[in-house]
Amino acid sequence: TVSQLDSDKLLSNTFLSLDLPLPDDDQIDLPQWEDDSYSLSPYTLSGLKALGFTSPTLIQKKAIPVALQEKDLVGKATTGSGKTLAFGIPILEKYLTNLNTIKENNKESIINQPTGIIFTPTRELAHQVVDHLNKLAKYSPLSTLGIVSITGGLSIQKQERLLARGPGILVATPGRFLEIIEKDMEVCKRLAATDILVLDEADRLLQDGHFDEFERILDLFKKHRPKQKNKPWKWQTMVFSATFSKELFGKLDKKNKGNKNGNSNGSSL
Ligand code: ADP
Ligand code: MG
Repeated sequence: TVSQLDSDKLLSNTFLSLDLPLPDDDQIDLPQWEDDSYSLSPYTLSGLKALGFTSPTLIQKKAIPVALQEKDLVGKATTGSGKTLAFGIPILEKYLTNLNTIKENNKESIINQPTGIIFTPTRELAHQVVDHLNKLAKYSPLSTLGIVSITGGLSIQKQERLLARGPGILVATPGRFLEIIEKDMEVCKRLAATDILVLDEADRLLQDGHFDEFERILDLFKKHRPKQKNKPWKWQTMVFSATFSKELFGKLDKKNKGNKNGNSNGSSL
């Protein structure tokens, strides 16, 4: 993925169009992925079909309908249970909704802010998440290059250039992400306007040094987020982990109490 990101013809607004052809199947028959309360876009369903996933895993079945209602949620499920798509599918759906809104308003404007920012504890995990979401988004207007990783080990200049092009989904490790938003307030403002924040492997993510980094990211985001109808912008927050230590709950709780607008309508899964 790294060398792909280097190419100069990348991101030439390909993911800003909803006129992308879908695969040549007249019917995407995946009834298990939808029910009376929600449906998924054909772009998402085509990706799932290509992956060969005919039905959701348990965590996906529980989390996706809640997430599609733009509620905060906490999801606990063992390793290998499919947590990536439990947040990946709702983010892709939200991205498509955002694109549609722009199209309906006939705006020339591009989407400046990412739809979702996913934090993972390590760069290896970040790259795994990017690979997985790229497969899901294979037929979507995000194509492959609208999803980028912001992790250590890659040149920061390159990542800043990628960010300037307005990718739809970021997958980040806290250290490098903090470095980037501390450097440039305009970038911070743009990223703080994201719709969705995900903490993947939250237990590990908020251990040790990462917790301080994450707190600083949230402080900067709170300071620079846009206002919406005179209220501070509210992110939809999803927290996923295989384990939840008491310590982590204590930290999350403390954060919630400190956030007056955190009208936590969340459901715990
Ligand atoms: P977790 O994050 O919970 O450890 P992953 O999201 O990495 O789990 O998924 C674990 C594996 O299950 C991956 O190989 C993924 O491709 C596969 N997988 C995810 N969702 C489904 C599904 N609905 N049906 C079949 N396989 C799936
Ligand atoms: Mg995972």
